[in-house]
Amino acid sequence: MPRWQILSMPMYGKSFLKGDIMCMNNTDKNQTKAMTPVIMKGAPAAERLTEELKARSEKLRAQSVVPALAILRVGSDPSDMAYERGALKRAEKALVEIKSIVLPENASEQDILAEIEKINADDSIHGCLMFRPLKNKETEKRAAEMLDPKKDVDCMTLSSQAAVYTGNRECGFAPCTAEAVIELLKYYNIEIFGKNAVVLGRSQVIGKPAAMLLLEENATVTVCHSKTKDLEEICKKADIIVAAMGRAEMISEEYLSAGQTIIDVGINVGADGKMCGDVKGSAKEAFAAKYTPVPGGVGSMTSTILMKHVIEAAERTVV
Ligand code: NAP
Repeated sequence: MPRWQILSMPMYGKSFLKGDIMCMNNTDKNQTKAMTPVIMKGAPAAERLTEELKARSEKLRAQSVVPALAILRVGSDPSDMAYERGALKRAEKALVEIKSIVLPENASEQDILAEIEKINADDSIHGCLMFRPLKNKETEKRAAEMLDPKKDVDCMTLSSQAAVYTGNRECGFAPCTAEAVIELLKYYNIEIFGKNAVVLGRSQVIGKPAAMLLLEENATVTVCHSKTKDLEEICKKADIIVAAMGRAEMISEEYLSAGQTIIDVGINVGADGKMCGDVKGSAKEAFAAKYTPVPGGVGSMTSTILMKHVIEAAERTVV
């Protein structure tokens, strides 16, 4: 892309030169900096954390504790299988053992709960990831109730959810994706303290916990959802946008203002059949100071956070 490309922004009634001087900060419209967006790739952040995890795993192994994760999958959903492959690769690098348990699509509630019971009883397993959603919501609820909270590395149990909302991490772990959002912001030195953070989405697995974690970091947080009015105006005022709606490229230029940090959690299939985020790639490129790509952003960090939780759970077993 040419450095001096002129971008027309009819919504704002002006044009500016990309690569030139432009307003960077919503809170100080007079602040100007050269605008070359930083692409917040997940891989370097994941690699750095993995090195730290490997060292912690080696220390545990020296004490005869081998950190181990059980992955429970019901059926063969392609996105579950893709995540599982990523987790296997990351586990190898972080020196975490994986026990894969695969049940057929038509597995009964009894079969699923029996596996959870076995995981609870097995002292050599420190964490459990059960792919969700299950077809049967009631079974999913009962499985979550049954899992030992100490082994709940992806925030299935009420105990872990309480940990997110109270900030007391001793009673559980945050969902891996929500924590990956915070880790990426920190890795790329983005100040959260006192900033206006807008979270798009209020799901139990991403939107709500991401909002809580941002609040814990002293951001002022606005949570938006499908019934939110004036979404464009709310987004424009944000310093940090966390998009987790699952709406392919819904957030376009009209929602953004210059110099924002955009964490795009969405994983969608675009009109061209390619993977895309919730925020239009060209809009991120034109407006953001820093942004995560899709693919290659938050997703790469999520499985590393999973390994971090397994190692922490294993460390807690060592007295
Ligand atoms: P979800 O349970 O479907 O929740 C979507 C949320 O977005 C809901 O709160 C919904 O509002 C809100 N929303 C939907 N349309 C909206 C609109 N037009 N305007 C404003 N808000 C809107 O999805 P999820 O499980 O949280 O996942 C969100 C995305 O993250 C998906 O693309 C998923 O594939 C992706 N994901 C990424 C990772 C990763 O590691 N990168 C991991 C897991 C998931 P209501 O509550 O009002 O319905």
